[in-house]
Amino acid sequence: MAGGDELPWGGTCALRGCDPRKILRPGAEIIDSARLMRGKGIEDRGPSINGADLTRHRHGFTDPVPQRMEGGPSRKGVESLHGTATFETANRLVVDGRAYGSRHFLIATGAHPRPLDFPRAEHLIDSTAFLGLEQVPGRVLSFGGGSVSFEFAHIATRAGASPGIVDPGSRPLERFAPHLVDLLVERGAEGGIDVRAETTVSSVEHVGSACRVTVDTAGIEVVIEIELVGSAHRRRAATAGSALRRPAREAG
Ligand SMILES: Cc1cc2nc3c(=O)[nH]c(=O)nc-3n(C[C@H](O)[C@H](O)[C@H](O)COP(=O)(O)OP(=O)(O)OC[C@H]3O[C@@H](n4cnc5c(N)ncnc54)[C@H](O)[C@@H]3O)c2cc1C
Repeated sequence: MAGGDELPWGGTCALRGCDPRKILRPGAEIIDSARLMRGKGIEDRGPSINGADLTRHRHGFTDPVPQRMEGGPSRKGVESLHGTATFETANRLVVDGRAYGSRHFLIATGAHPRPLDFPRAEHLIDSTAFLGLEQVPGRVLSFGGGSVSFEFAHIATRAGASPGIVDPGSRPLERFAPHLVDLLVERGAEGGIDVRAETTVSSVEHVGSACRVTVDTAGIEVVIEIELVGSAHRRRAATAGSALRRPAREAG
């Protein structure tokens, strides 16, 4: 038996998703709590985010994961593979130049960000790159009004940034209770989070170290100057459009 990954073993949640985001959150919550207590007995001038310390703290959790995840199965005799898996035929899977034959393969490749179709979309950073930032730039825009964008924006604002969120839908966080979303958007606005619904990105242009993003709200285009633009829009199955789609078995 063999199992593999094209990235270090551990998967999205432990290395690039749920766990690292939960490590970023408590610092932002402490700053927020201190601000809420302003004038109620707590001086809130003190706490601030130390990006280098926080990054080190996050690595303390994530760095040991691949070895631990790989060690368990390999002690039970499972061969560990490293590389992108692609089907050669329905019964042959190639990983790192070596072919493995079997009647059955378990494909558990998760999801990737959907490709975006506006000019220079490749300049957007994804959630993995955002989680890897040691310092959040002062002006940052996120494409996609889901929970990841909102959480990153709320963390960024407690780190001193002025984040924005643009979302093509009529409401952000559309799967959540509207009255709670309204409260969150209102609360975010007090902290400087600019949420624009029914807004798409038309283009992204780099001007020196800054970005000029043209956004379109109901046919009206506005240019936003920022330092970093990220995408946290809906993901799609990693098998979509990839060579990991299993070819049909030949008859006979
Ligand atoms: C920023 C972020 C925050 C999140 N926060 C939460 C949260 O708080 N709570 C929650 O429930 N969920 C959260 N999620 C979602 C959660 O991470 C995923 O639902 C979960 O990881 C899916 O598990 P999986 O095993 O299906 O796929 P994954 O964990 O993505 O594992 C699939 C693995 O397959 C590998 N792979 C892909 N294609 C190939 C290939 N061709 N060859 C070889 N290897 C390949 C990938 O490298 C990946 O490591 C978050 C996701 C993100 C991005």
